[in-house]
Amino acid sequence: MNTYGRQPISLVKGAGSYVWDSEGKKYLDALCGIAVCSLGHAHPTVSKAICEQSATLIHTSNVYRIPAQETLAGKLCSLTDMDSAFFTNSGAEANEAAIKIARMFGHNKGIQTPTIIVADNSFHGRTLATLSATGNRKIQAGFEPLVSGFARVPFNDVDAIREVAKNNKNVVAVLVEPIQGEGGINIPNPSYLNEIRTICDERDWLMMLDEIQTGICRTGKWFAHQHSGITPDIMTIAKAMGNGFPIGACLAKGKAAEVFKPGNHGSTYGGNPLACHVASATLAAHEKENTHVQAKNTGEYLVSQFKASFSETSEVIDIRGLGMMIGIELDRPCAELVSLAIENNLLINVTAERVVRLLPPLNMEKVQADELVSTLTQIVKAFISR
Ligand code: PLP
Repeated sequence: MNTYGRQPISLVKGAGSYVWDSEGKKYLDALCGIAVCSLGHAHPTVSKAICEQSATLIHTSNVYRIPAQETLAGKLCSLTDMDSAFFTNSGAEANEAAIKIARMFGHNKGIQTPTIIVADNSFHGRTLATLSATGNRKIQAGFEPLVSGFARVPFNDVDAIREVAKNNKNVVAVLVEPIQGEGGINIPNPSYLNEIRTICDERDWLMMLDEIQTGICRTGKWFAHQHSGITPDIMTIAKAMGNGFPIGACLAKGKAAEVFKPGNHGSTYGGNPLACHVASATLAAHEKENTHVQAKNTGEYLVSQFKASFSETSEVIDIRGLGMMIGIELDRPCAELVSLAIENNLLINVTAERVVRLLPPLNMEKVQADELVSTLTQIVKAFISR
């Protein structure tokens, strides 16, 4: 269907931080399929895991025990201090599971119309419930009636959350991204998540974090909330989990982990042997390559290099990032930079109209980071001087 405004190139091959199109032209990939191929393309550990498991057992059903799923759940819980996992095929489905847990948690407490607090400029997916949770009218328009039960507050504003608490006795949970990705790489105050944790504890709400874009070492820790030293009650992940193999998960802790009972939720494919084996191999590769350290170091290097390159460029109004999640904000709409970058052998993204979003492979080499800085600097300077 006609759902994407596609770029006119066909990518047919990848290796590490590079991809090639059908004409043989080579591109530096500073987007990695929107934070998915964080280990780079055609990573040998991931490819081997796909080959081995697909020759052994691809799929059974969640009506049987799945050892690969139990192994992956155990690993994710040990990395996050969570207690249990529900596996999905995508990020939106992981958020659907989180929304269902929050609602049932409310019903179990006698709240008949549970409300989840969500943020302006957020992005949680394209299913009906997740687009209703999303704070972007463009994504919702035309799909009304929206799913009810969401109260919206400005991002990075805990007073607004407290205000909703005063007026709405039906609140059961808060759902936010630790750093808003689609919304423009919006990084909240360092105490934001800690304060949400406190509010949720005071009121017996579930703190739910959408780490679909920020998770799996992207920001310099395994998960972005770990910079704050808190643990959420629910966390959703997907994207980089299988380095391109589709898999997501909703992780839950304590009382949130006890909400679902047999029959409350399910998925045919979610958590099948192939997906789980590939995700375990992906996590092992991140661990082996210490990608969270690489993301921190290369991310800091990129931000400092961009700051130096644009120090005299007043049209670049902000350069921000955490690890390899970097936004360069211009004073004007700049969607055209995407095709200008393609002409110059570089893949980037522009989000929130004015923000160049960079989500490069975490194990990108220094020479590639330098290539990214020099190509992008040249393109941005040419764009604003036209
Ligand atoms: N949540 C966040 C923060 C995302 O960035 C995305 C995708 O961009 C999603 C949810 C939806 O994930 P998916 O496209 O896998 O359904």
